Amino acid sequence: METRDTPVRITHVVDGKPWTGKVGRTADVHEPATGRVTGVVDLAGTVEVAAAVDAAARAAREWGEVSLARRTRVLFAFREAVVAHREELAAVVTAEHGKVLSDAAGEVQRGLEVVEFACGLGHLLKGSHSENVSTDVDVHSIRQPLGVTAVIAPFNFPVMVPLWFVPVAIACGNAVVLKPSEKVPSAANLLARLWSDAGLPDGVFTVLHGDREAVDGLLDHPGVASVSFVGSTPVARYVYGRATAAGKRVQALGGAKNHMVVLPDADLDAAADAAVSAGFGSAGQRCMAISVVVAVDPVGDDLVERIRDRMAGIRTGDGRRGCDMGPLVTREHRDRVAGYVAAGVAAGATLVVDGRDVVPDGSAGGFWLGPTLFDHVTPDMPVYADEIFGPVLSVVRVASYDEALALVEAGEYGNGAAVFTNDGGAARRFARDVQVGMVGVNVPVPVPVPYYSFGGWKASLFGDSHAHGVEGVHFFTRGKVVTTRWVQPSHGGVSLGFPTPT
Ligand code: NAD
Repeated sequence: METRDTPVRITHVVDGKPWTGKVGRTADVHEPATGRVTGVVDLAGTVEVAAAVDAAARAAREWGEVSLARRTRVLFAFREAVVAHREELAAVVTAEHGKVLSDAAGEVQRGLEVVEFACGLGHLLKGSHSENVSTDVDVHSIRQPLGVTAVIAPFNFPVMVPLWFVPVAIACGNAVVLKPSEKVPSAANLLARLWSDAGLPDGVFTVLHGDREAVDGLLDHPGVASVSFVGSTPVARYVYGRATAAGKRVQALGGAKNHMVVLPDADLDAAADAAVSAGFGSAGQRCMAISVVVAVDPVGDDLVERIRDRMAGIRTGDGRRGCDMGPLVTREHRDRVAGYVAAGVAAGATLVVDGRDVVPDGSAGGFWLGPTLFDHVTPDMPVYADEIFGPVLSVVRVASYDEALALVEAGEYGNGAAVFTNDGGAARRFARDVQVGMVGVNVPVPVPVPYYSFGGWKASLFGDSHAHGVEGVHFFTRGKVVTTRWVQPSHGGVSLGFPTPT
């Protein structure tokens, strides 16, 4: 049931100014906790992409010449602005995404940490210098910005995912065109205001709203040097193929299906706490959520009982009412996830807790689905194989460590995995063996701090560079090596031979 009170118009931000664009296409933005239409967002087409990239290119030329000292001062001011507006940012995330306020505040904090990392970027932009590599010849290396970089974000982290890339790209001297998810557009506009307050010149940070048409425009535009994409695997694969074919540098982070292996010697209370927190935080709409618990014999019965007990205490409802878990992002997504619950039952999994029965603390129009637990799930079931991206946790039972590892290996995705154990040798072996990008040992959501890099393997990442950390700096810069000879009063004369050190 949709009511239109006074939906807010959410415009692009081009050259530092709000702009509705020329094409006139728009989409409704919903508040998942009530189902209300709260906004109308402009959707860019090729005309808007061209205008945004032109403005960004002009800004990039000037920003790339600004001294590192001045760029760093803007980064510090932006850090202060985010700190001063962290509650406002979290409130915007909760309103459009639905995650509870404390979770939204956590997302802002993790994004802020990347801004703080970018404040110290001068250290990572240092080149190296070798003296007298040949007689009177010195060599030094430098890293230079790319120009206009595009960032295309998913709905599930409206603040944190853009901040994985934007501060690093800007600190490196680039301009950024951010294309947020059309489901959660407002946080990006607030970030644009904070960049402007921090003294960032107009055009260095652009927000271009839109859907597939805007994405295609950015992938094809010759003025865009690189694409940082985060979203589902089919779209990540498509973005990677199309943008690399257009000659761009691309990092495309995709979907996930993260396993948590519980070995027989694990602390089962800690494991149950972790499974519930990581399975149902943000209603399972995290790329690092745990969606499969692999119980190694004989812990299955005991572990399932402890997980079920904890689930009984989860309050599902409006994220502004102190609940533990909010709604799903759209009605369609809620229905799709509920469809997986039905499919799990049909496939023969044991439905231990049915989230379809939830009584939420929230409006009847919200997109609700409570925490759901399946036991005795097998790898052939859709509930196991597909990325559901909702509050549905599956328990698979296996006989041994080797069987658990083989199960993780057989999966399509390689974002994260966790092992719960008190055996240091087993934990070390798991961390070395498992084919994923991020591993947790007794840590269910091992999201790296910003001076390490974030990213998965296999179908969870297309490209060579993960986000932030040293890899992020390298992604947003090009290396150059300068070989220098200062002519001495007497020089060696003409030589057509290939230069070799003398
Ligand atoms: P999505 O793939 O539907 O959308 C991501 C972005 O691509 C959005 O900006 C969207 O407008 C655009 N888009 C959607 N369909 C497109 C198409 N056909 N062509 C071109 N562009 C298109 O993803 P989502 O539903 O917004 O986000 C959830 C997904 O993101 C999950 O699969 C989740 O695992 C993944 N994710 C991954 C990571 C990671 O680090 N690997 C982090 C967060 C989310």
